[in-house]
Amino acid sequence: MRYPFISGNWKMFLNKTSGVELAKALVNGTKDVKDRDIMICPGFPLLSDVAEILAGSQIQLGAQNMYYEKEGAFTGEASAEMLMSVSCSYVLLGHSERRHIFHENNELINKKVLAALQGGLKPILCIGELLEEREAGNTESVVREQLTTGFTDVNAAHFSDIIVAYEPVWAIGTGKTATPEDADNVHSFIRKTVAGLYSKSISDEMRIIYGGSVKPDNIDGLMAKENIDGALVGGGSLKQDSFIRIIKFES
Ligand code: PEP
Repeated sequence: MRYPFISGNWKMFLNKTSGVELAKALVNGTKDVKDRDIMICPGFPLLSDVAEILAGSQIQLGAQNMYYEKEGAFTGEASAEMLMSVSCSYVLLGHSERRHIFHENNELINKKVLAALQGGLKPILCIGELLEEREAGNTESVVREQLTTGFTDVNAAHFSDIIVAYEPVWAIGTGKTATPEDADNVHSFIRKTVAGLYSKSISDEMRIIYGGSVKPDNIDGLMAKENIDGALVGGGSLKQDSFIRIIKFES
């Protein structure tokens, strides 16, 4: 049984005042929600304040990135231990904005996945192809490489803590969503790839969530698909009404 997982990525939006206000509204607006996991990823400077608001609620906290070293002279970075100390449970790794703006590659992301697991954080490994890769028919080879390298040396025992987010780069922040059928096909390919790398039982249990212009008007169709276990929502998570409707998807 794969429990639905709905997550919000606030990216570099909201400040302490507006972030705390949104977090309060989300806590109030989801009190009656059952049978699904909810998580939000505010920017680093907001984590402690948002953690206080989420304490005792069913909304969990995540970070948008981390570095793989435990500590040291790495100006501008945050370690797993630092994120755990402000109540984060999850961390996004390999988000397409990290890959394409900050040039993170699969090898670096793999080091982060290993460090997150070792530090007690649950990694959400974000993968997905560029438009030109899709048009060239390379979606599967790109996704296979992101998974194979991203999971190098990851122990099978850790898979209950791992989520994969399939986020086609051409659908992020563009208003273009993959159709539920297209997304489900790639999710099914991801599941088969993980079954080949590990086992069918591990891949059957692993949650694969979709990200890319998820909105109140497309969440129900996406969540109706067999292999779509949740959503990673950027723009649609920044307004309480929109994100609460997404959390309360019906399928
Ligand atoms: C994201 O930030 O992971 C994302 C999918 O953004 P958006 O929903 O805005 O496309």
